[in-house]
Amino acid sequence: MPRPTPRESLGLTAGYHSPQVDVRVRLNTNEAPEPPPVEFVEELTAAIADVAWNRYPDRAARPLRQKIAASEQALATLTIDRANVLVANGSNEVLQSVCLTYGGPGRSVLTIEPTYQLHSHIARITGTDVVQVERNVDFSIDLPAVVRAIGERSPSVVFVCSPNNPTGLIEDEATIRALLDAAENVGALLVVDEAYGQFARWSSLSLVDEDRPILVSRTFSKTWSMAGLRLGYAIGPRWAIEAIEAVLLPYHLDAVKQLAGELALDHGDAMVRRVASLVEERGRIMEAFSDMPLEFWPSESNFILFRPTSIDGDRVWHDLVDRSVMIRNCAGWDRLDGCLRVTVGTAAENNEFLAQLRDVLNAG
Ligand SMILES: *Cc1c(COP(=O)(O)O)cnc(C)c1O
Repeated sequence: MPRPTPRESLGLTAGYHSPQVDVRVRLNTNEAPEPPPVEFVEELTAAIADVAWNRYPDRAARPLRQKIAASEQALATLTIDRANVLVANGSNEVLQSVCLTYGGPGRSVLTIEPTYQLHSHIARITGTDVVQVERNVDFSIDLPAVVRAIGERSPSVVFVCSPNNPTGLIEDEATIRALLDAAENVGALLVVDEAYGQFARWSSLSLVDEDRPILVSRTFSKTWSMAGLRLGYAIGPRWAIEAIEAVLLPYHLDAVKQLAGELALDHGDAMVRRVASLVEERGRIMEAFSDMPLEFWPSESNFILFRPTSIDGDRVWHDLVDRSVMIRNCAGWDRLDGCLRVTVGTAAENNEFLAQLRDVLNAG
């Protein structure tokens, strides 16, 4: 008897996984190093007692969306409210919903490589073609090449990640504006993935406008110390949010998650302090890197991409794992030969990482 076979296009896409190994220092998936504030956990624990478990949750997640709008208003030029906010199970679900809405058979998304691998992976899963444009040697965006590709290929979605994972580099306002103009000219939606936006000096939220095709996605996973919760969102013009909502499953956001998101937003000050200290630690790691035999890319995120120059990166990665320090091995990624990516951890974790890295590089 023949077994059912998955859709052919899925065979092309290997899953996206980071190894989950038990180590002392885990700096490989860009999570926040510390749990959320204890007050938040206490408030959530108490509030869970009142959840109406037998009822479906608020389908439109109104209070949560309103609170997210209020929390991001300071960065926006447009006056935003809940109609400008899409909420989802992690920003990966935002990206998937975008592809389900605007992608699909006969359509394409454009990605700027190297970048977050899930942009093209999710697009393919939704049956959407992927047009990949390469960055310059220094990993900055080759703007003329991207604008040309948008004009020639007419994708329906353009993904840009800023700060970019895995390089940590940010795009400036002029670049995002140029991408938006090019996308608008062919009727495409520009999606700016700002999973690390809070760590950067500039945000594309200032460009969100009712009359322009731009959507900015963000997440509670990195900045809000809540990768375990799976909560992400996007901010954009009402018509785009409305269109994307039509593909979401009914009640996709459970009651506990909505509650957790609402309560978390009351702790914005604690989040800002955490981000500030991670940014400081990031500076300290980059300074330490300047005295080591490696090249690195100046980061606007909570991770740093680097390439050892005296020993092969792949060996450095294995040696670090042997010493119970786990970072991300990017050796297998296109154009990232010998590159490693370290997530900024607590001061103690960063010290341990730097000491072990120094040792490994000296031993080599
Ligand atoms: C981590 C990450 C995401 C996914 O975040 P979730 O909200 O946890 O789904 C999206 N984009 C980029 C660039 C990321 O690094």
